[in-house]
Amino acid sequence: MYDAIVIGGSFAGLSAALQLARARRHVLVIDGGQRRNRFVSHSHGFITQDGQSPGEIVARARAQLVAYPSVTWMEGRVETARRTEDGRFAVKTTTSELEALALVLAIGVTDSLPDIPGLQKRWGKSIFICPYCDGYELGDGPIGVLNVSPMSIHHALMLPDWGRTIFFLNGRADPTDEEMRHLHRRGVALERAPITLIDGERADVHLADGRVVPVAGAFTTTRTTLSSDIAHQLGCEIEESPSGVFLRTDFRKATTIPGVFACGDAARSFGSVAMAVGDGNLAGSTAHQWTILRKMGQPHE
Ligand code: FAD
Ligand code: MG
Repeated sequence: MYDAIVIGGSFAGLSAALQLARARRHVLVIDGGQRRNRFVSHSHGFITQDGQSPGEIVARARAQLVAYPSVTWMEGRVETARRTEDGRFAVKTTTSELEALALVLAIGVTDSLPDIPGLQKRWGKSIFICPYCDGYELGDGPIGVLNVSPMSIHHALMLPDWGRTIFFLNGRADPTDEEMRHLHRRGVALERAPITLIDGERADVHLADGRVVPVAGAFTTTRTTLSSDIAHQLGCEIEESPSGVFLRTDFRKATTIPGVFACGDAARSFGSVAMAVGDGNLAGSTAHQWTILRKMGQPHE
């Protein structure tokens, strides 16, 4: 029986577990090892760690965490989670059954990439989602923006701050007249033909009319889903964002199910390492305070 089980042991989960460990709580972290940015070699924008390998950041955080004697680390995937009648939580992996007073969901999200040949292979290497994370390194570009969703126009209007930008309309309808005016004012070049393939060392964009337009890197939007359905099993309320779904939480990162807290990409419409760490810090302390109330015999509703 643990005080808290943290599901997901990446940036958000590590940060939440650290707060719980430092409050001398028995905490179990269960991690499936599928970090969202596992495809990238350098992570940017998190102070003191700008340009670091995300795998190294996580490995160092984990080493510091497991040095606390009340922390248990388990590799594996939580398959089911349910709230018991007395307001505890029962969690099952393929090999074990565990119980806790509080749950922290730090499960992250999974990106579904647009179906363009060659894109998947370059994901996180020369094809990216977040200009703040990966724009700076592209120098003067040219930078491609792939028109794959109604959100792509926002990418196209932002990216000129990072370099010369080409908006690949990808055979889709032209932007509106007003959007065209904005694109023009931002100096964005347009390519209309559908994209058939992306190959090359960086990103050579092949078009249906036979031309190849090389870019230093390209930005795409994705569809995101929660990386596990345990939040659905528990009955947590879900919110919609333009790119996917995330868990509803209050200002202290409590979900709509008492005793279940959520942090990181799974619990906000747009995430980063810094935000995941901040959310985790908050969710961990809120979960700790919940365990105090439960140990004092307070009701669990
Ligand atoms: P994640 O890091 O996704 O971790 C979730 C963890 O939960 C995973 O280990 C997963 O296996 C585990 N998990 C899920 N379900 C279960 C389950 N049922 N049982 C057990 N474990 C489970 N952000 C930046 O700040 N800077 C950058 O430079 C940057 N670059 C990026 C580049 C790319 C290509 C992408 C896609 C994202 C980038 N990000 C960057 C965003 C960053 O990756 C996320 O904001 C961050 O990983 C969120 O952390 P998290 O802990 O919420 O989730
Ligand atoms: Mg995490």
